Amino acid sequence: MTVPDHPAAGKLRLLSRRSFLRWTATLGASLAIQAICPVGANAAVWSGVPVLAYHPVFTDDWTVEAFRQQMHILHQLKMRTISFRALIWHLENGTTPQGRVILSVDDIGAAKACCDREGNLAGPYATFWLQMYPEFRRYGFQAVLGVVTGDIPEEASGWDWRKIRFLQSLGYELASHSVSHNYQMVGRDGGLTREQALHEFADSKEAIRQHCGIDPVGYVWPFNAVNYKEDAAALYPALITYGEGGAVQRLEQLAAVPRYHAELHQGADFRSMMERYSTVPATSHLHPRTRRGSVLYVVQPGDSLGRIAAAHGITVAALVEANRYRYPDLGSAVLRVAMRLQVPTGRSFLGGP
Ligand SMILES: [Zn+2]
Repeated sequence: MTVPDHPAAGKLRLLSRRSFLRWTATLGASLAIQAICPVGANAAVWSGVPVLAYHPVFTDDWTVEAFRQQMHILHQLKMRTISFRALIWHLENGTTPQGRVILSVDDIGAAKACCDREGNLAGPYATFWLQMYPEFRRYGFQAVLGVVTGDIPEEASGWDWRKIRFLQSLGYELASHSVSHNYQMVGRDGGLTREQALHEFADSKEAIRQHCGIDPVGYVWPFNAVNYKEDAAALYPALITYGEGGAVQRLEQLAAVPRYHAELHQGADFRSMMERYSTVPATSHLHPRTRRGSVLYVVQPGDSLGRIAAAHGITVAALVEANRYRYPDLGSAVLRVAMRLQVPTGRSFLGGP
């Protein structure tokens, strides 16, 4: 039996609404059991498939280095990516994929997210191709792209359908992320009418079908804050929402899959979060505090550089050096509460043997 990992991997059949509901009902009960089993107590227990939400934008607090570190951690944990389509296939066939993760990148093609003041090179299009894509490629990962169809082709955004089809040919999955990306209208009084919502759901699906030859199974939308969920569920087996936390553990949740916002889980936090989904035994890799590298420290009220450094057994200079990319003036500037500092750990980081 061949298990398709990605749309390009083989002939796939689309789930009917009825069969989707059937496996939802069948497997929900058995999976509820795992919720009361401590993870790791039983190797046969399925801990689910985490969905990690990314956007092609980096900031002071969410740097490309932090993203690279996450990809490297997934690689160290021997995790492989999976698509929603393949996940649904597994679940429909009663198998529970282990060591898998769904990486999603939203706002592909969105004109309003297309470029910064300086020009395209720092814009999301370039960020995707120059900073994210090489990392995916390095580890053999494929992402699920949340495509905003209404802006494509859009000269300013850089995206056209040919480039999206190229990624599709590499095994990237295409999910719809609406036609207009107009979230001003979402979930408020006087917001999206049902007719407008149906347009967002149906026409974006049609555009992907027309240009890429497939029916997307996923729809990315803040379902936690918007109506018309049933209308979307009638068109897409997987409604991908913005809820933070959890994973695809109970199958009824697959209709509105919660995602981890990857940038909220940096460094050691990310590693320990992902370990539970990994097939690598936790003892086979070094503890975050002793491995070469660094751990994330969030600055608390009353902290000083000296205090943080002393608490971690390092010098202030080493602390400043480890954060020079993110906070170039850390040595002279005042510490702010909630700043996220990388604290070096392990002797090799400090140059010792
Ligand atoms: Zn978006």
